[in-house]
Amino acid sequence: MTIDTNWENFIEEELSRLSFKNLERKLYKVSHPTNTETIYEGKEVLNFASSNYLGLAGHPEINKAMKDALDKHGTSTTASRLITGHTTAVEKLEKQIASFKETEAALLFSNGYMTNLGVISALLGRHDVVISDRLNHASIVDGIRISGAQHYRYRHMDSCHLETMLKKAIMKGFRKVLIVTDTVFSMDGDSAKLDDILYLKDKYGAALMLDEAHAEGAIGPFGRGLAYKMNVHKETDLHMGTFSKAFGVYGGYIAGKRTWIKFILNKSRSFIYTTSLPPSIIGGISASIPLVKKSETARRQLDEKSIFFRKGLIKLGIPIGNSNTHIVPVMFDNELQAINFSKKLLEFKVLGVPIRPPTVTTARVRLTLMATHSIEQISRAIKAIEMAYESVRGESVLYK
Ligand SMILES: *Cc1c(COP(=O)(O)O)cnc(C)c1O
Repeated sequence: MTIDTNWENFIEEELSRLSFKNLERKLYKVSHPTNTETIYEGKEVLNFASSNYLGLAGHPEINKAMKDALDKHGTSTTASRLITGHTTAVEKLEKQIASFKETEAALLFSNGYMTNLGVISALLGRHDVVISDRLNHASIVDGIRISGAQHYRYRHMDSCHLETMLKKAIMKGFRKVLIVTDTVFSMDGDSAKLDDILYLKDKYGAALMLDEAHAEGAIGPFGRGLAYKMNVHKETDLHMGTFSKAFGVYGGYIAGKRTWIKFILNKSRSFIYTTSLPPSIIGGISASIPLVKKSETARRQLDEKSIFFRKGLIKLGIPIGNSNTHIVPVMFDNELQAINFSKKLLEFKVLGVPIRPPTVTTARVRLTLMATHSIEQISRAIKAIEMAYESVRGESVLYK
């Protein structure tokens, strides 16, 4: 084959293909993205698109901790952890994380994406297999790809299919088997069947890694996540999480047994080959962990408000999949409907973002609740969703 030197042509064709299929991604300007009221492309709207679940982003104690750390330790470490980027504050923070997760040890990463990438690829190689829920987060998928391990996907939350995959893995004679799943699914808002998974993990001798990105802070005693709520945290080998959602700061981590963490520290390329997080972020996370633990009231409110929101939508016949959390998708048959729905929603001053393939298999508009939403704001959103949904449905009938 000859080399195609026409880059312009290639890029333009791909872009017009994306645009034609309603899959083109664009950036939209937002100010105050963590507040319940925000300005989206110059327009005041109710914000149902933030992961500031407990309302902790911008908390005065976090702000102060970040400023203090900045004043004391400067803007950057300018070095990776294994060179000179490991400070007293980081060591203290990792102990704090381990204690929050009740594990022996924890390791901080730059963010959640790099945690999944680095942990999975450190643990597994081409003789191994990862069995993964089909709707797991992209960072898990990318970690598996980089690892070179075989990738078996089971149908979303289908424990029978998971067992079939485990049997297949045993039959093929792989060296190691890792089961990995989101606990609360980021685009569907449903929750993994952790008791089934634990049973199967034991039965087939697999290890289990849980991504608690959307559960932590929001769910479980002290906001420790779904594994704690379901009382399977002790049997879970690896707990992964992010500080950029309910914690309101930034950064990712992995927690588990001391030897596992040591192994990951030695092998994880996304841990080794990058500059450590700046002191201000370390200070911010350190301040936010105790705040998350104390946020029992906000957690209860988030739960109650999510129920109120979901019930309101279900009563109107709006399809929200199997959501049982603060993440609530409105499902559509195609990309165009999802886009038109979110545009209509904006006209009614509510922000919810369309999520399309390849991020998900079915187009939807994803809405997220925060403890800081008032019931009045949620009621307004339900009303807006009702009107927007009707108008989009009307249109789609018209076009057919
Ligand atoms: C957001 C998210 C991540 C990535 O975390 P970041 O800290 O934003 O990089 C990983 N897994 C899941 C399930 C997520 O929703």
